[in-house]
Formats: sequence, C-alpha cells, structure tokens
Amino acid sequence: MDIAEDKAGNRAGEIAMDSPSCTPSCTPSCNSVVSSAALPVAIESLPLYSADEAFRGCYKAVVVAPHPDDETLGCGGAIALLRQRNIPVHVLIMSDGTQSHPRSKQYPADRLRALRESEAIAALRLLHGLPSEVTFFRWPDTAVPHPGDQHFARAVAQCDRALQYHAPNLIFLPWQHDQHCDHQASYQIVHHCLNSWPMPPRQLAYAVWGSRTAGLPALPTGETGWRLDISTVKALKYQAAMAHKSQTTCLIQDDLSGFRLTPTMLNNLIQPWETYLEILGQS
Ligand SMILES: [Zn+2]
Repeated sequence: MDIAEDKAGNRAGEIAMDSPSCTPSCTPSCNSVVSSAALPVAIESLPLYSADEAFRGCYKAVVVAPHPDDETLGCGGAIALLRQRNIPVHVLIMSDGTQSHPRSKQYPADRLRALRESEAIAALRLLHGLPSEVTFFRWPDTAVPHPGDQHFARAVAQCDRALQYHAPNLIFLPWQHDQHCDHQASYQIVHHCLNSWPMPPRQLAYAVWGSRTAGLPALPTGETGWRLDISTVKALKYQAAMAHKSQTTCLIQDDLSGFRLTPTMLNNLIQPWETYLEILGQS
C-alpha cells in the first residue's frame, strides 16, 4: 500500500544508531555480512548469497506482511526459493488492505478486502506457496496496533499464537524503520511476541518503504545486511507482484486517490536480489 496513504506515517522515528552484535543463532553468513558504519553502504556492495548459503538449517519459515502484497514485494524471491527446496513457508498478513482505494464505490471495503486477499493467494501460488499457508489477521489498514494502542496486546497475543503454532526457525518481518505506520507496527508486534520466547528464531528484516520510491537505497546506519540471489526466480517474483492487480494496474478506476505501484517502485523492489537486515541480539 502507498506510503501516501500513511495517515500515521509520521510515527516514524529516527533511524536507530545501535550496533547489534552477532549471536550464536546466526547462520554462517553472519560472519560475512556487512555492518554499516558512519558512511552509507551501497546495496550493490553487500555480500550476495545463494538460498542454500543463506537458509542453511531452515526447516520452517514465516513471513509477516503488513499488507497483502508486502509478502511478494519484500520476500517473494525468498518464498519461491524456500518452496523450491520444499521448506514450508507460512504467511501472516496483518492488515485488510482496504485503504489502498478508500473512495471506490465499485470496491467498498468488504469487496476490496476479498479482492486483495485473493490477489495475495494468487501471488503465493505463483511463488510455489500453498493457499492454505496464509493467515489474514484483518487489522484495519493504516491502523495496525502500535505499542500503547488499545488493541496492541490483543494483536501481540494473536500473532504469538500463530507463531507458536507454526514454530518457524526463520521469520521475515518488516524493517522497524520502514516509512509506513503499519510496517512499523507489524515489526513491533512480532518483536513483542518474540521477547517472551526463550529461544527466538532467526529474524530477517526486509524494507519495502525504505525510501518514498520503495526499496532500500543504501544500508541504513547501524544495520547489518546482505543480499539473497533471486536471479533464478526474479521473473516469478515479477509475475507474483503483478498478480496484485489492484495495486499494479488500473483495475480500480473510480478512486483517483487510489494507490498504484509505479514502474519505478516495482523496479526498485524487484531486483535480481533481495536485501535482508539481520536482527541480532534481541532486546
Ligand atoms: Zn505495506
């Protein structure tokens, strides 16, 4: 969903400057990822790993997506590569996605929600995912609960139940400083879930709105990152992104304020690699 719709987008704080340290739960790639220092690090200079290298030891993954489309835009390549290796991937979609076209008469909220959920399922099929392996939490778009909100504890409990049930040893979650309130809230919900786990799984953050034109232009200060080689499934990721027709085409024509992923955004999000930030040293 468009960052222009981010009614509460100014919740975004300044980028944290803490320097995480490596933990024993990291994969071997942890020793050769790049941590940014004072100067920005170009994404293209980050180490590039194959799925076999990056996901060694992974037996179950969960992707946390703030909106229906983030699973594809952020992690579509990883999903396809994991599924090609018969590794189960479950997708948790936090919001109902109904604020992408809030003024459409043709697609009122219920119809738009159903459309966006069907698009997410179609995209996951293209990525070799299973339609049964997606859960829609249906929090109101642009109102996924933040810490301190009335429903935050319920959102954490709901997410925790799902994570406990699926018991992944790898979780993909939004970058905590993504420039969208729902992305930040989704990170906080997962973070609060895992805080109570004695042995939290490995966590990889992905940025969809690392800039206003989407993607992550450089490794943010204080972050540790690397790239996943998705060149063999880049075309699949593009097809999956285009399966989100409400976001990528003029399917919904009666809301001039409606969101649409521009070619520039898609180009920034669909590269031969995906960039992941290691969340290290849980606190
Ligand atoms: Zn989103």
